[in-house]
Amino acid sequence: MSGIVVVGAGQAGASLVAKLRALGYTGPLTLIGDEGVPPYQRPPLSKKYLLGELPKERLFLRPESFYAEQGITLRLGEAVTGIDTGSRHLMLGAEALAYDQLALTTGAEPRRLPKAVGGGLEGVYSVRRLADIDAMAPEFVPGRRVLIVGGGYIGLEAAAVARLRGLEVTLIEAAPRILQRVAAPETADYMRDLHGAKGVHILESCGLKRLLGSNGRVNAALLADGDQIEVDFVLVGIGVTPATALAEAAGLRLENGIATDALGRSSDPHVWAAGDCASFPRAGAQIRLESVQNAIDQAECVAENMLGAGRPYAPLPWFWSDQYDLKLQIAGLNTGYDRVVIRQSVGARSHWYYARGRFLAVDAMNDPRAFMLGKRLLEGGRTPDPALVADPACDLKTLLA
Ligand code: FAD
Repeated sequence: MSGIVVVGAGQAGASLVAKLRALGYTGPLTLIGDEGVPPYQRPPLSKKYLLGELPKERLFLRPESFYAEQGITLRLGEAVTGIDTGSRHLMLGAEALAYDQLALTTGAEPRRLPKAVGGGLEGVYSVRRLADIDAMAPEFVPGRRVLIVGGGYIGLEAAAVARLRGLEVTLIEAAPRILQRVAAPETADYMRDLHGAKGVHILESCGLKRLLGSNGRVNAALLADGDQIEVDFVLVGIGVTPATALAEAAGLRLENGIATDALGRSSDPHVWAAGDCASFPRAGAQIRLESVQNAIDQAECVAENMLGAGRPYAPLPWFWSDQYDLKLQIAGLNTGYDRVVIRQSVGARSHWYYARGRFLAVDAMNDPRAFMLGKRLLEGGRTPDPALVADPACDLKTLLA
């Protein structure tokens, strides 16, 4: 018996192997990761860890001893370079490792600036891996000038940390506004005001022509409008692409990531996928979610299905972001929204998304109650009356009645 092999020792891979053991799977179980450290949480990388408020040990999802105690073979610092789905082997350097069932939890790769645009210069960093953050840490010295390329959640979180640490921050976004892909203009306006008040210089509709350097190190950025700004270092947060190279080379079907069915099975019956790398069917499309909640829930669902449960994955997505003293919590998916209802009360605000009269999602800003109740309404497939939502005197709990 060759057992189960999981490739990618991140949030999804760690959740999958732990769940398999919790469900009583006693066969051989191997988790392989190309980073040299045990599985860790990524969210603090652009928040408390970058701020210096969380020690490295607290990033790890479980102590390394957990894996040995559970009879999980953890192979770190090793990249899987090929899969032969016919003979059910994968390649680890010169070694061929057999599997009965394989799960791919290879995550996503940050989009990088092309070399021609200066992406290869020293002082230009991605924000994805622990090693990226450790490499950029010495750059965070008060008074230094950082350029952040990309106004998504990761760029905004990094901007908040840089301001809190006393750096001068310019953030450029090529789209007409920050958070264009993920949130309504109302949420973008709120975040822009917050960052503006904290001293971040945000430039929207502002592309990067190229980074300039001297002796191989970045020292300026030439913007698309012809302006040039001096910088000491650059953080690139322009999104990720699912890590599908292995799956593609193995001939698995790709569609917005590794395409899986509702159970998490790929186009090969012995290969499964979960987390940032995997897409699953929802409302007639293959969708992919990039969140901790999805990595855990989908991996756990796949673990059950590898053992024969036959449970379709039907998540209620949720996400959070921390910036300064703001906790933004999001429940649901706002895709296709045509109306945003604002609820404002003292110190708390939430934006409620509707499409053709149906409630889709909520962005809650320092409003855990709106998040929790919005999530419960979505779980119940309920649509609250927009007029009541907008009325700060209305107790949201009554909407559940
Ligand atoms: P990953 O965590 O990326 O793990 C995949 C692993 O597989 C990696 O270690 C990779 O190196 C390895 N791998 C890939 N190919 C191979 C190979 N061939 N051989 C061996 N190993 C391989 N989500 C939230 O919900 N809230 C947040 O606030 C939030 N903040 C974030 C902040 C940052 C800075 C980042 C980067 C992400 C954040 N996310 C957040 C997203 C969340 O962390 C991811 O969605 C989650 O980590 C996905 O888990 P995963 O296991 O699918 O992928």
